[in-house]
Amino acid sequence: MRLVLVGPPGAGKGTQAEFIAANFGIPKISTGDIFRANVSGGTELGRMAKKYMDAGDLVPDEVTNAMVRDRLAEPDAADGFLLDGFPRNVAQAEVLNGMLDELGSPLSVVLDLEVDFEEVVKRLSGRRTCKKCGHVWHLEFDPPSTGGVCDKCGGELYQRDDDQPGTVRRRLEVYADQTAPLIDFYRNEDRLVAIDALGAVEDVTERAIAALTPFAD
Ligand code: AMP
Repeated sequence: MRLVLVGPPGAGKGTQAEFIAANFGIPKISTGDIFRANVSGGTELGRMAKKYMDAGDLVPDEVTNAMVRDRLAEPDAADGFLLDGFPRNVAQAEVLNGMLDELGSPLSVVLDLEVDFEEVVKRLSGRRTCKKCGHVWHLEFDPPSTGGVCDKCGGELYQRDDDQPGTVRRRLEVYADQTAPLIDFYRNEDRLVAIDALGAVEDVTERAIAALTPFAD
C-alpha cells in the first residue's frame, strides 16, 4: 500500500501513522521526523531546516522533495510506504505524483484525518515527545505515569519548539493556506478517504484501518 496521511497539525498523524504502518507492514516516512533528526544531529540540512521549522513555516520545496525522493529510493519503500507530513502543498503533491509515475506505482489512497481547529490547539499545547524513542504523549489525553518520563523506554519527554503558542498559530495558518487545498486536489483525483479523528487513539486507529483495508494489495 502506498499511502499519504493528511490533516492539520495536531490531528494525530504521527501517532496514527505508527499504528497504521505497523498494521499494513509498511515503513512510516515522516518528513517532520527526518528534519528533526537532522536538527538534533547538527547536519547542514538540519541547520537550514530549523529556521523554517521554528517559525512554523514550510522548509523550501526543492529541499523537501529531494529528501523524499532519496527516502523513497531506499529498499524498504519498494513494496509500499506511509507518508506522514508530505506532501504539504499542491506543488509537492504534483512532484510526488511525478516520482511515483516514474516508478509505475501510483498512490493507493490518501487518508484525511478530520479534526476541528479548537481541538487541534488543545492537542498541540499538551503534546510531549520522547527524546529517545519519539513516542508522543499528551499531558491531558494520554499522560505518561511519571511526569517528564516516557513509559515505553524511560526517555526524557520534551515539548517541541514549534508547539509553542506563537508558532502553533503560524503552523495553523500555513496549514489553511497551503496544505488544506490538498484535500480537494486528492478528492479530484478520486483518492481521498476521510475519517473523523476525534476520540480515543485506539478508536481512531480502528476507523483508519477499516477505511484503508479495501486499498491493501
Ligand atoms: P511535522 O512534524 O509534520 O508537524 O513537521 C514539523 C515541521 O517540519 C513543519 O512545520 C515544517 O517546518 C517542516 N516540514 C515537515 N514536512 C514538511 C514538508 N512536507 N514540506 C515542508 N516543510 C515540512
